[in-house]
Amino acid sequence: MGGKRKKRTKIVKVKPKLPKTFECPRCGKIAVTIKFDKNHEGPKSAHIKCGSCGLETEIHDLPPIYDEANAYGRFLDLYLEGTLEIKDNKRNKDHENEGEDESLSSETNQ
Ligand SMILES: [Zn+2]
Repeated sequence: MGGKRKKRTKIVKVKPKLPKTFECPRCGKIAVTIKFDKNHEGPKSAHIKCGSCGLETEIHDLPPIYDEANAYGRFLDLYLEGTLEIKDNKRNKDHENEGEDESLSSETNQ
């Protein structure tokens, strides 16, 4: 019985993963996710949301061939232009009259 040497060559395919999360232009964290609305044909819409600061917006009329990276690029452009309509999900719970003690410093006449 002759021993056959089996050589197993592993072919490792390195698939470069497309980043699905992007840097947020407002808070700077990699927490922006992009979802596309499913349209049959024609331009599609991207729903963009930051999981960190709550920034949320939508971009419409994107070319059908656009992927997340393309949509993110468009999002950045629009954001920097200031023409983007931002929905802010976060409640302003940390803006409760911080440092305003004027009511306490009212003079008492006695
Ligand atoms: Zn953010």
